[in-house]
Amino acid sequence: MRLEVRLVECKTAASRSGLPGLDFALNPYRGCAHACAYCYAQDVTRFEMGRPWGSVVEVKSNIVSALRKELARGPKGVYGVGTVTDPYQPLERKHEVTRGCLVLLKGEGASTSILTKSDLVLRDLDVLHGWKEAEVGVSVGCVDDRTTSVIEPGAPSPERRLKALSELSEHGVQTYLMAAPIIPGVSDSEDLLADLVSSAHAAGVRRIIWDKWNTKPIAASRLRGVLRDAHGSLAQGHTVAQKESIQRILARECGAHSIELESSF
Ligand code: SF4
Repeated sequence: MRLEVRLVECKTAASRSGLPGLDFALNPYRGCAHACAYCYAQDVTRFEMGRPWGSVVEVKSNIVSALRKELARGPKGVYGVGTVTDPYQPLERKHEVTRGCLVLLKGEGASTSILTKSDLVLRDLDVLHGWKEAEVGVSVGCVDDRTTSVIEPGAPSPERRLKALSELSEHGVQTYLMAAPIIPGVSDSEDLLADLVSSAHAAGVRRIIWDKWNTKPIAASRLRGVLRDAHGSLAQGHTVAQKESIQRILARECGAHSIELESSF
């Protein structure tokens, strides 16, 4: 898919966040070239409706200077980095806007909670190292490469993400695995969930937060398209019984590997 990149100026860098544990949300990019089929960011933000998700990304080129001004006048707190789109999507290699924000936040004594699906976060180990008020969540909802290459075509492999978690922990960075989204009929089988937890254990993961797939119309239609699920039998929303089953399997597998488990809903 051809990627259109736009450099834009933002009026504000961070916004107040209602997400648990976060005071502010900081998203250096609009759109996301990881192009996950299940991503509901387009449903929520209405960004470039009618264009394929992942084909347009805006880089907030002035976000570091905007954040500097906001930090100078406002209270500091916990900044969630990547609450809507991935802060370590491929463009970050060149533009370094996420890195710039993190350097600033650390220097100002703020806290951060980063969520990504990319091992590019390892580039910023020098910033994260020794930053006590920083944590990094890495998302892996399935470790089956055949499945992830279809539903997460632009993201690094699950193996690379798990290695990133391992390396971050080795450098003393607080981490967790975001086991999300667990999609009914796609990644919620007993075998796949057991593989996910054992792979996490092998990577030294001590804490897993899991989340169900939040079904939204555009994301659901896109996911059904890539799964060639003409009847829509896959990728429906979760039933209560399915959620309970996922919770039960994950709790059993995490218990067996002494991994702490939480759900994010
Ligand atoms: S990495 Fe996150 S924001 Fe990016 S496409 Fe995938 S789910 Fe959406």
